[in-house]
Order: sequence, then C-alpha cells, then structure tokens
Amino acid sequence: MKDDSLDKIVSFAKRRGFIFQSSEIYGGLSSCYDYGPLGVELKNNIKQAWWKSMVQMKTDVVGLDSAILMHPKVWEASGHVDGFTDPLVDCKDCKKRWRADHLLEAKGIKPDFRPGKNSMGDVVCPECGGTLTDVRKFNLMFKTFMGALEDEASQIYLRPETCQGIYVNFLNVLNSSRNKLPFGIAQIGKAFRNEITPGHFTFRTREFEQMEQQYFVNPKEADKYFEQWKEDRMNWYYSYGIKKENLRFREHEEHELAHYAKSALDIEYNYPGMGFKELAGIHNRGDWDLSRHQKFSGEDMSYKDNETKEEFIPNIIETSEGADRATLAFLIDAYQEVDARGGDNSKHEKEVVLRLHKDLAPIKIAILPLSKKEPLQKMAQDIQKDLWGKWMTQYDETASIGKRYRRQDEIGTPYCVTVDFDSLEDKKVTVRDRDTMEQERVRVEELENYFSKNL
Ligand code: ATP
Repeated sequence: MKDDSLDKIVSFAKRRGFIFQSSEIYGGLSSCYDYGPLGVELKNNIKQAWWKSMVQMKTDVVGLDSAILMHPKVWEASGHVDGFTDPLVDCKDCKKRWRADHLLEAKGIKPDFRPGKNSMGDVVCPECGGTLTDVRKFNLMFKTFMGALEDEASQIYLRPETCQGIYVNFLNVLNSSRNKLPFGIAQIGKAFRNEITPGHFTFRTREFEQMEQQYFVNPKEADKYFEQWKEDRMNWYYSYGIKKENLRFREHEEHELAHYAKSALDIEYNYPGMGFKELAGIHNRGDWDLSRHQKFSGEDMSYKDNETKEEFIPNIIETSEGADRATLAFLIDAYQEVDARGGDNSKHEKEVVLRLHKDLAPIKIAILPLSKKEPLQKMAQDIQKDLWGKWMTQYDETASIGKRYRRQDEIGTPYCVTVDFDSLEDKKVTVRDRDTMEQERVRVEELENYFSKNL
C-alpha cells in the first residue's frame, strides 16, 4: 500500500468487517479495538501460522498457555514493579500528556533520563507551545484486585507481557517433558499496558496479543542462537508474503536496552504514516529472568548438563511478536488498488485486491451461483456443505457476478467457485483465481482434491 497515512486502511478495515473501534455505540474506548468477522479469521490464521512454524514444525519448541493473572511477586522479580515505566511530561498550559522520549527524539535529541540528566531542555508542548513539567516515571502495569478485599494485600496486575508465564513454568516444563537444552517454550496470549500515548490504530493499544517464544540455552551459545532466531523470525514474515522492502532489522542502541536485555534488535515494518516501527523484538535476556525468579522464589533454576557436567542458569533468547501489529502489517502489505479488471466494473476506476497469502486469507473459497434460481442455489449450497468442513467458505448470491468477484478480491479470497446453468448438465463449475483471474472448469467431485492441492 502506498499512502502516507493509516486512514485508508482504518476505513477499509471497518467497512469490510476486519477491525472496529471497541464500544463504538458509546463513543468508543480509546485505543481498544474489536476484530470483526473477517478480522478474527485473519488474526486466527496469523496466530495459527505462527504456532505452526514455532511449535508444530520445530522439534525443540513446546507450547504453553499460562494465566493472565499471576502472583504479584512475579512482577517484583521481573523488575516491572520498579522498572516498567515510561517517562512522562504534562503540558502546564493545555494539560496534554506526552512521552518525554518521543518528544526529544522528534527534535533529534537522544533521551537520557538518568538521575541528574532529567531535562527536557528547550522542548515545549507540541500542541500549544506551553511549558512542560519535569519528567516523571509512569508505571505501565494495570492494577486490579483479587478477591473481595480491595487492599494492598489483594492487589495484582494484568500481565504486561506473556513471557513471565513461561519463565515461572520453566521447571515444570523441564521436569514434565524430556527436553534438554537448548529448547524453547512458546505461547500466544493477551497482554496489557497502560500506554501513555496509545495510537496509530491497532499499532499501540492498551490491550493486545503477543506471540512469544523463550529459548533456553547454555550461556556460551547465546550469541549463536540470537543470530539464528533473528533470521528465523524475519524469514517467517517473508514466507507469508510481506514485501522485503517493507521489513528491516534495527539494533537497539545502548540507552534503549530494557533492564533485562544484553542485546536486542527489532524487526520493523514500514507502516504508512509512521515509517519503520517495531513489529517484533529479538532479545538476548542473559540469565536475568531465571536468576531473579530463583532469588525471589527460592527455587533452584540451574540446569545440569549430564553430558558436559556443566551447571549454569540458562540464558534466554526471546522472540517477541505482536499479533495485532502483525495483523495490521499483513493487512497493509496485502492491500492493493488496481485498475479496473474488466467485467461490469469498466466504468469504475480502481478496485481493491487483498493479496493475502492463502493460509492467511479469512475466506478460502466463495461459492457463487450465477442466478438465484432454485436448482443453481441448491447445487451451490451442496458444494458449500461439501467443502466447509475443511475450509472457511462464503456463499453469496446477491448482485452481478462481477461485483461478487470484486467483493471477494477485496477481502482476499483466493478462489471463487461459480455455479452456472451448464453446471447442472456437465457437473462442472468455474474456479476463478484471485491473482491471475484465470478461470478453470473443474468437476464438482474433483473440487475437494483441487483445493487440497491448491490451498
Ligand atoms: P514499543 O517500543 O513499540 O513500545 P516495546 O519495545 O515496548 O514496543 P516489547 O516489550 O518488546 O515492545 O513487546 C513485544 C511485542 O509486543 C512488540 O514487538 C509489539 O509487536 C507488541 N506490543 C508491545 N506493546 C504493544 C502495544 N501497546 N500494542 C500492540 N502491540 C504491542
């Protein structure tokens, strides 16, 4: 998509039922979004493709689904209670709240908030030119209470990242499976951050979904696996069709490194109106996590290698990806406006084709009877029933066939099956390909085979 703002994709996503503003009838809830009928399919397919590459097709990674609510000590051990903060300034005049680091970066100034350096210099409020307050640290964790008493003792947090569920289950997984190092644990789940400046549609929200994998390694091998995982994740985006020119690696500079990270890099996507921004992160977390949990829980987190007789706290290479940022990136990357592709649209100027990878497309096959006449309807509906056990299908009998093809192109459906009057005689249907627009007559009894081969 070539456009310098997200506006087009936001209105497309709403119009075709991919993504809606949350609680819209009440005026919406800032930075919260709901996935509509097509959006939930797309996002599920992305999560499934991730799981397949991460767990199903690897011998050394297993899955996990840990709870969102965790013991509050987890967040002390992880450093989040003290350290998971964003630097915040308020405008003294218009009261608008800003991320101090973003304001400084926009002026080309490297943010440095270490004690004694906590200054915004000449930077003023971008909205009204007012004076800004000193920088304060704002903790991003959502607090809530467990049980009937709303006191300090019952205070817990909504997890701000999914990986802590993996660390605290490291021993459980190790002891219940026959995994030896190196091995990984993967999970997909919701995370919550009370972001100060959410925005850019689903790019930065307060409730989002992460797809994370933690790879436990011998410290001597950490650098090697960091390199392997960074290639593995980048190749995954390529393999599902994101254009190479829209992706890049970016190494974190020292001042950006999170409290746990020894080294870190982002995979960035070129979002319209935003430029290259983080889509995924690959981090070498050293032994920070397991050492801290060992200290706070008293459990021994060390690993004994039976072959080399070495004993150490495993180091962790983390791959952390956002399901929402990925969904947005795949949607943007697939969105294409093309010149009218003929048919009854010759008067129209542009058509949208969503060139999603077939595995990600929300609907795989559309079934379109040429007319609403009973025998065609019945035949088309029978075909749908034959196929829907294996693939997401959609039945559409309204409007001209050209218009129906365009509707399907717009939502990325790879194949349309048209049932016409000849079909009643020869028991063949026309299968049309979204990208080539080639049409092929296929015997109805061959359809399942045909799609098994092509989807
Ligand atoms: P950013 O610098 O953009 O705030 P981050 O460095 O805080 O991101 P991580 O903590 O590394 O992000 O989280 C891992 C992944 O989770 C990110 O690469 C992103 O895909 C996703 N993610 C993080 N925060 C959000 C958010 N507020 N909304 C949507 N996705 C998010």
